Amino acid sequence: MPVPRIVIMGAGFAGYNTARTLERLLRPAKAEIVMVAPFGYTLYQPLLPQVAGGVLDPRAIAGPLHRLLSRTQLLPGKVRGADLHERTIDVEKIDGTKVSLHYDRLVLAAGSVTRTFDIPGLKEHAHGLKNLAEAVYLRDHVIAQLELANVSMDPAERAARLGFLVVGGGYSGVETCANLQLLTTKALRRFPRLDPALLTWTLIDIAPKLLPELGERLGREAMRLLSRRGVDIRLGTTLERLEPHCAHLTDGTTLPCRTAIWTAGVTPSPVISTLNLPADRGRVRVGADLRLADFPDVYAVGDAAAVPDLARGGGDAMCPPTAQHATRQARVAAHNVAASLLGHEPRQYRHKDLGLVVDLGGVQAVARPLGVELTGIVAQAVTRGYHLATVPSVSARARVLGQWLIHAAAGDDLIRLGLLDPRTSSLVDVEHSL
Ligand SMILES: Cc1cc2nc3c(=O)[nH]c(=O)nc-3n(C[C@H](O)[C@H](O)[C@H](O)COP(=O)(O)OP(=O)(O)OC[C@H]3O[C@@H](n4cnc5c(N)ncnc54)[C@H](O)[C@@H]3O)c2cc1C
Repeated sequence: MPVPRIVIMGAGFAGYNTARTLERLLRPAKAEIVMVAPFGYTLYQPLLPQVAGGVLDPRAIAGPLHRLLSRTQLLPGKVRGADLHERTIDVEKIDGTKVSLHYDRLVLAAGSVTRTFDIPGLKEHAHGLKNLAEAVYLRDHVIAQLELANVSMDPAERAARLGFLVVGGGYSGVETCANLQLLTTKALRRFPRLDPALLTWTLIDIAPKLLPELGERLGREAMRLLSRRGVDIRLGTTLERLEPHCAHLTDGTTLPCRTAIWTAGVTPSPVISTLNLPADRGRVRVGADLRLADFPDVYAVGDAAAVPDLARGGGDAMCPPTAQHATRQARVAAHNVAASLLGHEPRQYRHKDLGLVVDLGGVQAVARPLGVELTGIVAQAVTRGYHLATVPSVSARARVLGQWLIHAAAGDDLIRLGLLDPRTSSLVDVEHSL
């Protein structure tokens, strides 16, 4: 008799940890595990700003699935749709061929993409930072702006090439701004023809505070540190219109700028909306057992799922989309999938947030582990220690540590790889195809 098949959609924090836990809980005779994933790695997204900033190489934050998983069968491709009544999913493999796959249990862990709005020019000209392609592109693009400004005789072109805008004052926007600002400031020493006064970094957010996740004091501290480094931070402000050479802001100003980085929130991966499931702001609604009410063989975890936050009282409170929740939800989902096959009781997901770390580049950081507020070099030590402990493999850990040391000693080599086509590198091009 064939063993039940568990299919996992996605290999991020949620998908990877589901597979890894299932391998431990179920012997091969009890279930076959299949993971549909477009790439051969699980990505450690929190260090993407350091890849964009040239502190780390892309491979350092890519956990190798072929090494990390022992008996999960990897199906290289993307889920394009599913018939949850018939218990089948449609997969497009990376060579474009299509296959339909039956499942006995399905785990939806397709994560999220950058959320965009109907702001004129945003989808055409802004860049995101949610995957490795975008991190590599952004780094190339920023270095290219310095190189082109250096050879330009046109003052307007120089100003626009040296004008950088980041939209979003959450951890992702703040870390991206901090790391890239440091890259450009240090890089200017190698472009003596460029006047440092022309370099501008602007960070805007519609909210009245920076880093609201970290509380009042640390938000203010991050703002103070970045402002001292020359970042122009404007709160209560957002983007009104984006053009190739300038950005119009809601405070009435126009910034000369050829680089706009949009990090204002996330929305579930596009495939999720094709499933027509009950959702909360696009995220699949599940119970605290991570199961769909109408399809008890289907589970959803991570950024793609709206999971009641029992640690904050449940009710309407949903878990925020963080790696911490995705990882822990995955372990509970795996337990519940195994329990459903072995006739055991399911568990409920309950996790109290352990805090957040925010790398501001160099030796600067702000962090609140377990409610303790830290700044400066101590916060940076905790931040780096946390990342080292949580990157997904020993080889990744060794690469991250080695590259931090090399970068600290030797600085940035400023190599522009030129791998991506600028005509197809907007965040919608890169992230939003199903
Ligand atoms: C710059 C940045 C910094 C961050 N910093 C932190 C931090 O400090 N702390 C923290 O807790 N969180 C942080 N996060 C958030 C955290 O990374 C996410 O919450 C986490 O990645 C969510 O995990 P996930 O598995 O749900 O989704 P993802 O990690 O996005 O993984 C989803 C996976 O599904 C795959 N996929 C998508 N569509 C399909 C499909 N149709 N078929 C098959 N596979 C598909 C994707 O390729 C990917 O492998 C950060 C995020 C960013 C972008």
